[in-house]
Amino acid sequence: MKTPICSFDAKSGVLCRKCEAKLKSGSLTQDDVEAATKLIGLADRDQEINKFTLVRGTRVHGDFVLVLRSSDVSVLRGNKELVSKIEKQMGQKVWFVETEASDRRFIESLFHPLKVLSVNFFWLPEANKLTKVIIAEDAQNAPVNIDKVQKIAKAIRNIELLVEFKNNQKRI
Ligand SMILES: [Zn+2]
Repeated sequence: MKTPICSFDAKSGVLCRKCEAKLKSGSLTQDDVEAATKLIGLADRDQEINKFTLVRGTRVHGDFVLVLRSSDVSVLRGNKELVSKIEKQMGQKVWFVETEASDRRFIESLFHPLKVLSVNFFWLPEANKLTKVIIAEDAQNAPVNIDKVQKIAKAIRNIELLVEFKNNQKRI
């Protein structure tokens, strides 16, 4: 398994001078280190996880976001057992995000399994970029925490998300 820190560091839990310097300069975060050390423990016992490439780990409002290669996220989408194994190891809910994804695909995967009907990027007069997303289902039935999705989009890609539901729109 590849992680943002050396695999020796991830296994020992102690950072080498090079990784320590990265942490000090901010190119590496404490969350990256935590995700790497926790996941490497699973990788030893799990062939699938051992093939993963962890790009980044970030804690967002009580959940953990793991940024992985698209192929890794595909494996996880088809393997619920693997997902719960990782969530158990991390000790909290985990969101899996593809590193190579476009902003549109990134947003779609956060809303999964909700269907995203449209994604529009636009600029406000104050020069803030906003991203408006229209979702097919009604908010009440959503199995996805919309507030969390907005926070993750902001934390991982600096995307300001405006979410609308198609059914709600019709009522107006
Ligand atoms: Zn290192």
